[in-house]
Amino acid sequence: MDDFDINKERLELALEAAGLDLWENNLVTGEVTRKVSKIFAELGYGEHESGAYMDELFKLIHPDDIPVIRCAVESHVAGDSAQYRCEFRIRAKDGRWVWFANYGKIMDRHLETSGQRFIGVTFNIDDRKRREAELSAANRKLVRQNALLEKMNLMLQSLATTDPLTGIANRRQIMEVGVSEVQRALRLAHPLSLLVADIDLFKQVNDTWGHPTGDRVICAVADACLRSVRSDVDIVGRIGGEEFALILPETDGTNAQGLAERLRATVAALPISAAENAVLSVTLSIGVATLSPTCTSFRDLLIQADRALYGAKDSGRNCVHLLPA
Ligand code: GH3
Ligand code: MG
Ligand code: MG
Repeated sequence: MDDFDINKERLELALEAAGLDLWENNLVTGEVTRKVSKIFAELGYGEHESGAYMDELFKLIHPDDIPVIRCAVESHVAGDSAQYRCEFRIRAKDGRWVWFANYGKIMDRHLETSGQRFIGVTFNIDDRKRREAELSAANRKLVRQNALLEKMNLMLQSLATTDPLTGIANRRQIMEVGVSEVQRALRLAHPLSLLVADIDLFKQVNDTWGHPTGDRVICAVADACLRSVRSDVDIVGRIGGEEFALILPETDGTNAQGLAERLRATVAALPISAAENAVLSVTLSIGVATLSPTCTSFRDLLIQADRALYGAKDSGRNCVHLLPA
């Protein structure tokens, strides 16, 4: 055995061990000068079925991958890439698409005949491609699930902070926001006031018109409260059956009292439709409290506003009381 045979034997072994199939093409004539052998057998084709020209091979390549191959070859021919590399699918005899990779080089680049000896190897990358596809499908699923989770979290958060009947803040939210707004006002030494508004004789509304009409009244009053405040600064919430709180940052007692008076007048003049075309109206009693040296927490504000509210009820209802007077 001479050196040539020994080297050929060594090369065959290395190619086999690495799962590589060697090919050689003539880019000038388009001729396949050395056919891949193992790949076509692996794909179920007989030896006579592998083409003698590159164009015939292209018939077995996935149509989406043909431009990719052409582009990789052109880039290597132009000298833009030191090696020709690309990944593509070949159709097996039974119709399956199987992924392969190519690695090649023009060996006679410096000769006048450049392109006649385009040599490379092809190897199966189907397992890796399938794992990649599975991974990216799993990632896409994860992204979708995360988006859903985020949406559900937002919904949960909104459910936890919103009163379901009126859509305004619930008691829990008012307590939380109240504490933080008072802290901020104290830190900045800015005024802050609180209104607690209660529908007068609401039990009679329910007794006369029924619970669903009572609910409609609660919604109409919540709406009036919302419309009477600055939407981007003040916070309106339902803190009891027919009781509302309005947190008014940057608002002193006098201004808060003015706002309360306007709200009282608005509600008193508000026609609310009841059953069978009847229209009813309700009034509000409102207690006002404001931050002061004797009222330095949200809890203090609630106690004082409540006390003021009782004062308003005692004075005959449909009026506004402020504490400290
Ligand atoms: P006052 O002027 O002293 O506040 O008298 P009031 O009748 O408004 O007060 P009271 O506390 O006696 O009655 C409040 C009523 O509000 C009793 C309760 O059935 C009713 N209520 C509480 N929550 C709801 C609700 O969600 N929907 C309806 N329709 N009624 C409610
Ligand atoms: Mg009431
Ligand atoms: Mg009440």
